[in-house]
Amino acid sequence: MENYDKVSVLVVGAGPAGLATAIQLKTQKPDIDVCVIEKAADLGNHNLSGAVLEAEPLHTLLDSAAPGWRDSDEAKEVLAAKIDKDNVMFFLGTKLSFNILFAIKLAKKFGLGFGQMIHLGDYSVSVSKLTKWLGQIAKKLGVEVLCGFSAEDIVLDESNSSATGVKLVDQGLDKEGRKQPNFVEGEIINADFVVLAEGCDGLVTEKFIEKVGLQRQSPQLYSVGVKELIKVSPEQYDRFTAGRVVHAMGYPIWTPIIGPGMFGGGIVYAGVQEHLSVGMIVGADWKYCDFNPQDALTNFKNHRFVKKFIAGGTVVEAGAKLIPEGGYYAIPKDPQTGAIGKGNVMILGDSAGFVNMLKIKGLHNAIESGICAAKSIAENTNNPQASALRYTELVENSNIDKEMQSAKNFRQAVAKFGPLLGMPLSVLGELLPKFKVEKDYEAMTTAHYKFKGSQNFDKDTFTAMAATEHREDQPSHLRIINRNTCAQKCVPKYGAPCITFCPAGVYEIINGQVKPANPSNCLHCKTCQRKCPFDNIRWTVPESGGGPRYKRM
Ligand code: SF4
Ligand code: SF4
Repeated sequence: MENYDKVSVLVVGAGPAGLATAIQLKTQKPDIDVCVIEKAADLGNHNLSGAVLEAEPLHTLLDSAAPGWRDSDEAKEVLAAKIDKDNVMFFLGTKLSFNILFAIKLAKKFGLGFGQMIHLGDYSVSVSKLTKWLGQIAKKLGVEVLCGFSAEDIVLDESNSSATGVKLVDQGLDKEGRKQPNFVEGEIINADFVVLAEGCDGLVTEKFIEKVGLQRQSPQLYSVGVKELIKVSPEQYDRFTAGRVVHAMGYPIWTPIIGPGMFGGGIVYAGVQEHLSVGMIVGADWKYCDFNPQDALTNFKNHRFVKKFIAGGTVVEAGAKLIPEGGYYAIPKDPQTGAIGKGNVMILGDSAGFVNMLKIKGLHNAIESGICAAKSIAENTNNPQASALRYTELVENSNIDKEMQSAKNFRQAVAKFGPLLGMPLSVLGELLPKFKVEKDYEAMTTAHYKFKGSQNFDKDTFTAMAATEHREDQPSHLRIINRNTCAQKCVPKYGAPCITFCPAGVYEIINGQVKPANPSNCLHCKTCQRKCPFDNIRWTVPESGGGPRYKRM
């Protein structure tokens, strides 16, 4: 296909959900034209996760799409680390650690939700590599996978009930927004079906939700994940053991009675070739105005349990992203029909919020949602308007819905009552009522994080490890809506938290004004858009191909 003006199926986002759609659809209907557009310069560059993969949906997808896939080099590489040792730890202070897996096993025995938090038999994977591999499979099947194509907006029909296409971002503006000789206006790609699979807090997805009036029963809640890939010594790797994953609660983000009381925890996952993934995931409803998830990561790495595995190691990659945690009540739906989308537009994976917080996993649901979207399209090639509703039926009859229902009160209970009370309370699962929760940014207070380090986190090195790049001479894609709010309200009260929490050091005070001074460092994590206490920042899409260049995250 050489003319991109019109395609049958346009998928926005080449992550696991979008690529699963393309692969499944080409398997069922080889003659249909499918185009996947991706804002990153290359496949996998913007994909970051822990990641633990529950592989059944992937097996289902590939068994029909790529027979013999298990023998491929890519499969052997991506699925090299099968989990055979599962630790769920509780850290008390900087030295003590307790393995509480027995409690999770007990919960499983009694059918309680926490029992889902067992990962034995799953895979510890790099989602960047998984995405690259799925992209190669999709291309072999004849899918057009176009990297460096950033979508800016969705184009609706006159009735606002379906989409006619997607508009790409303009290229070639200078910092002041003036057209340069190489200016190219973002073209519109028209399509019969539009699949929104942009990942968490997708730009086009959120615009679509607002334009057509989809609603969430409860606001989406987010966590911020910061992660480092660390090359350790052979002895340390052997001591940790390949196939092991550690999830740790408690210090440094919540401690019974004495606080701080933030939701989340740390991870250590075995990778391949003596690499360990070490990360910290923190609920974005934190209340500390001087908190930075990277400080928590530093404290986590310095805990005695973690330190012995990574001391002296070399950080080879790093990055950050948001995770959608609001669960069942935060899935955007058409208030009239209940569709997860509208007309010919379907919302998938993390864009829909299909993360099961009891499992701390969403990749399997993302892939399954892609399979559902493809089946719906295949059934409705002559009636695209019916596809969002059929997609929703398929999701509701799938394992996605079962999981989302089972975990539906977990995150809201924790947001409402804090981890100390909320986590035990959430054992009651579906018996609990729906709790009303505030948006993450509304939780900010003037309180200070108790375990703040004496030195500022080295964000320059962190950003360098993400290999992020943007063309310098373009308008900033970070927009502060009202600078007076910064100067008159935020700085005096909170001390400009964006400067502290942005993992890439994008925001600075220059000549007394808070500014996104270094937009080219941006990791596209969207934390600032969801955590500015005055909801005063908008993340817009930069020119195509900009952003981090993750390879093994
Ligand atoms: Fe505060 Fe938001 Fe302004 Fe930053 S952008 S100073 S967080 S109001
Ligand atoms: Fe994340 Fe915003 Fe900082 Fe970019 S500017 S790295 S989106 S917090």
